[in-house]
Amino acid sequence: HIVVVGSLNLDLIVEVDRLPDQGETVLGKKAHMLPGGKGANQAVAARRLGAEVSLIGAVGRDAFGARLLEALRTEGIDTEGVKVVPDEGSGLAFITLAERDNRIIVVPGANARLTPDDVDRQAALFRAADVVLVQLEIPLEAVEKAVELARRSGVRVILNPAPARPLPATLLRAVDVLTPNRLELRVVNDLPPPAVEAPEEEASAALEAGVRALLARGVSSVVVTLGAEGAAYAIRDAHGNPGGLHRVPAVRVPVRDTTGAGDAFNGALAVALAEGRPLGEAVRMANRAAAIKVTRFGAQAGMPTRAELERWQE
Ligand code: ADP
Repeated sequence: HIVVVGSLNLDLIVEVDRLPDQGETVLGKKAHMLPGGKGANQAVAARRLGAEVSLIGAVGRDAFGARLLEALRTEGIDTEGVKVVPDEGSGLAFITLAERDNRIIVVPGANARLTPDDVDRQAALFRAADVVLVQLEIPLEAVEKAVELARRSGVRVILNPAPARPLPATLLRAVDVLTPNRLELRVVNDLPPPAVEAPEEEASAALEAGVRALLARGVSSVVVTLGAEGAAYAIRDAHGNPGGLHRVPAVRVPVRDTTGAGDAFNGALAVALAEGRPLGEAVRMANRAAAIKVTRFGAQAGMPTRAELERWQE
C-alpha cells in the first residue's frame, strides 16, 4: 500500500509551434484539459503498476475538482483523504508545449489549503502503508506532518522536492529517499540554478557534490533524475558516510511528451521499494517506467501499466 500526499491540478495545455513574445499573440495548434498535479500523477503512476494507492490532498468545490476526483477513482485510487475546500478553486496548471520548450505556471488554489491536521486525520493510512510518497506542491507544514507520521509508523518516505525550495535539516534527516532533478538538486542545497550549457565535467562534478552534500545533511539516499541522461543514485553507508554515485543511463525512446516523466519515475520508484526491491533495482524500474511515459501524451494518461512495463523489460 502506497500513501501519496500531494497536489491535484487541472492541466490546461496548449501545443504551440513557438511561444509568443511580450505583447504578441500566436495561434496554438491544439488545447487539452487534463487531470494533473504531481500528487495525483504519482498516485496514478503507482496504481497502474499494481499498487494499492491512497491519495491525501485537496480540491476546490468546483467542476474541476469533481473531474479530478473522478479521474482518480476510475483508476482505482482511494480518494477518501482528499478534502473538498468550499471557498477555494481547484489547483490549475497552465502548460505550454513548444518543441523542446515546456513551460508551466501552477496556481495552487485548494492545494495551498491542505493543513497538517488534514494529514493527521489520515494517520491510520500511514500505519497501513509500505511507502509514503510526498512532493512540494502543498504547504511545507503538511509535508512535514506526512514525513513525521511516516517516521512514527516506521514507513519509508520518498520526498520528491518539486517544485524546489530550500529544505530544513530536520526534514532532510527524516527522509529515506530524496528524488530531485538536476535543477532541484541545486535549489534544495541553497545553490543558484546551474549554468544551462555547463560543460560535461562541470555538470558531473556539480552533480556529485550536490548529492554528497545532501547525504552529509542526513538524507539516507538520493536519486537524481537526469532527463534524457537517465538517473543517478547514491546511498549513505552504515557508518553514515556518503557512498559513490551510480549512473543508470536512460532508455533510448522517441520523445512525444515529457510532462509527468518525473512523476512516472517517482510513482514507479515507490512501487518497487514497496515490493522490497533494493534501491538500484528500483531506480532501473523507475527509469524504464518514465521512458515509456515520455513516448506518450499526457501526464496521467501516459503512465504505463505493469504489463506494459514488463513488456519493455529487455
Ligand atoms: P522532471 O520531469 O521531474 O524534470 P526528468 O526530466 O529528470 O524529470 O525526467 C524524469 C525521468 O524520466 C528521467 O530520470 C528518465 O528516467 C525519464 N526521461 C526523461 N526524459 C527522457 C528521455 N528523453 N528519454 C528517456 N527517458 C527520459
